[in-house]
Amino acid sequence: MASEHHLEADAYRMAQWQFGQAAERLGLDEGMREILRSVNRELTVNFPVFMDDGSIRVFTGYRVQHNLARGPTKGGIRYHPQVTLSEIRALAMWMTWKCAVVNIPYGGAKGGVQCNPKALSNKELERLTRRYTTEISILLGPESDIPAPDVYTNARIMGWMLDTYSMQKGYSVPGVVTGKPLSIGGSVGRTDATGRGCVCVIAAAAQHLDLQLEGATVSIQGFGNVGSAAAKILAEHGCKIVAVSDSQGGVMNPRGLDVVGLLQHKYATGAVKGFPDSEAVIREEVLELPCDILVPAALEGQITAENAPRLQAKIVAEAANGPTTPEADKILEERGILILPDILANAGGVVVSYFEWVQNLQSLFWKEAQVHTQLQEIMERSFRAVHEMAARERVDMRMAAQMLAIQRVVEAILDRGVYP
Ligand code: NAD
Repeated sequence: MASEHHLEADAYRMAQWQFGQAAERLGLDEGMREILRSVNRELTVNFPVFMDDGSIRVFTGYRVQHNLARGPTKGGIRYHPQVTLSEIRALAMWMTWKCAVVNIPYGGAKGGVQCNPKALSNKELERLTRRYTTEISILLGPESDIPAPDVYTNARIMGWMLDTYSMQKGYSVPGVVTGKPLSIGGSVGRTDATGRGCVCVIAAAAQHLDLQLEGATVSIQGFGNVGSAAAKILAEHGCKIVAVSDSQGGVMNPRGLDVVGLLQHKYATGAVKGFPDSEAVIREEVLELPCDILVPAALEGQITAENAPRLQAKIVAEAANGPTTPEADKILEERGILILPDILANAGGVVVSYFEWVQNLQSLFWKEAQVHTQLQEIMERSFRAVHEMAARERVDMRMAAQMLAIQRVVEAILDRGVYP
């Protein structure tokens, strides 16, 4: 049973299955399928890092570029003990589709290091980041491959990556990473962009379902960059955040949690558990509590055939990448629960990363209002495009988003031609 569960949640299998379904529906020829189902480049690096006690440890990291047809590749860096090459491949593939769904000129990439960042000191984390950046620097550059933060990486780590790459070049190259601090070329509005974009998509979907956001109840799995921003912005829209979890446990309050207070509590204690004016719940339970909108914002493979029958939400907005397995997808569809697929619902982050990169290339910086307006425009336009495709083809939103994305990538490949 355990291995079956693991198989079900395997991100690579999920990405391949989703692609296969959409490719079939689009009637892609076998050669094109083969191009798109494989990743273009993958680099594995095993590298030493001095630990604070003077010992040396060897870490394994990856950088994968899935497809380069639409432009330089873009994708986050993940630090997690369970990072594997196959997971990074899946995430890179999803990045290709995501950039195509929102129609920004990038291909997809992803990177990661197998490590437990919570068990590393600040200095160890810095040495690991600088050595990993050097190891993968043969792929990086503002014209070739541009990392950003993902699970357990952040602006500070992007700052070290920028500095390491720039030291090797001999001059500052701000456009080599996005999601970096404002002082070295970051963009206003990047930190909460994924959460904000997700809320734009939720708002558009709610309108179609005649669901009022004011007073709607929301449950959120994961309270990191994406989950906490989504919570904050949904609360600003009048939603009641009734439950939140992180890796250490969950909290709930049917009358609505005070999100600002919860953020302060998480910052001070490192966890959401123990928040005053809330009831403790088991981590996994947060997915199954009564709510209008469920926002998975943690890791892959969280909504499975096992728990999908018990979900009580009307909308599942996939802020995380790959939170729903194909088996669960089917169950939720049969139950009439609307899924806003990851490659659309969490694309806000890469959209503002794109704005950041454009600002870096032009050395000209935008005001926050401009970032928000343009993000909203792109997210609403993309929602409409996916929604229209779903209606026209009589498919669900995930299939529609995949089809739209794959079509755009195929068009780019055909326009470029196959080299040589
Ligand atoms: P993060 O490291 O800031 O936060 C991750 C959160 O998930 C933490 O609160 C952690 O405690 C929690 N978590 C981990 N395991 C959990 C579990 N089993 N149950 C409940 N909570 C758990 O990471 P993030 O940047 O917020 O990324 C979250 C998801 O969003 C990932 O799937 C990531 O790929 C995706 N995503 C992130 C961005 C971005 O801009 N950061 C963009 C698009 C998609």
